[in-house]
Amino acid sequence: MKFSGKNVLITGASKGIGAGIAKNLASRGLKVWINYRSKPEIADALLEEIKSNGGEGAVIKFDATDEEAFIEAIKLIVETDGELSYLVNNAGITNDKLALRMKLEDFTNVIDANLTSAFIGSREALKVMSKKRFGSVINIASIVGEMGNAGQVNYAASKGGMIAMSKSFAKEGASRGIRFNTITPGFIETDMTDVLNEEIKQNYIDAIPLKKLGSVDDIANAVAFLLSDNSGYITGETLKVNGGLYM
Ligand code: NAP
Repeated sequence: MKFSGKNVLITGASKGIGAGIAKNLASRGLKVWINYRSKPEIADALLEEIKSNGGEGAVIKFDATDEEAFIEAIKLIVETDGELSYLVNNAGITNDKLALRMKLEDFTNVIDANLTSAFIGSREALKVMSKKRFGSVINIASIVGEMGNAGQVNYAASKGGMIAMSKSFAKEGASRGIRFNTITPGFIETDMTDVLNEEIKQNYIDAIPLKKLGSVDDIANAVAFLLSDNSGYITGETLKVNGGLYM
């Protein structure tokens, strides 16, 4: 995989899919900026692991829903490295309940964490990347944003919004040489899916044509491809990484 850029910011990267993306991209020679919101010890341990494997990185604390903090973080990265080459909007939450019981704040909190944070990051990345006329942004959405899911009206709306927003950013960024793409993971083994009981997990596995849950590296490898020059003619795309569950 060939990378013309040198660094990447990954939001919500201290654990789960974000941590997997950080390790994968560091192993490919990129300097990884590991964003975390809480638990600095986990982010620090990840950075140590990356460094002990010969990678380069830094941790950066901010809440991705905090516009000012996100702007400051990107400013610091550009001051330190001279550029921001790549951004992965990965931070996300769930707050599942049936729509009839969903309070407005249950809805808006998820929209803020998943969609608004990705908007802030994409807009700020577009600004700084435009100066170099180079960059690539990945939004980590979800299969739920494509097919819907009972109990996840808020999450589905946020992830469907990311898919549509990413295409619009792609149209605005293209003339400046900046690409925006979305990855829609299916069911990936992380803390987010650990809350599902074994029966529900087995039901999903039975429904997945490839008959297994995905790994964080399945997502990280797709991220590496879509950030790299190898996908230089791809923008506004939504790449499904779901074992065939939704085609
Ligand atoms: P996870 O293990 O729960 O990790 C989510 C990460 O996002 C955590 O590090 C969390 O930090 C961080 N985060 C949440 N809100 C944040 C904010 N406002 N600012 C900064 N960081 C924030 O989840 P995951 O499974 O790795 O999911 C990563 C992404 O993939 C999410 O966008 C998720 O929706 C998406 N996804 C996951 C699956 C799956 O099967 N796992 C499937 C489809 C899509 P804290 O620990 O501080 O809260």
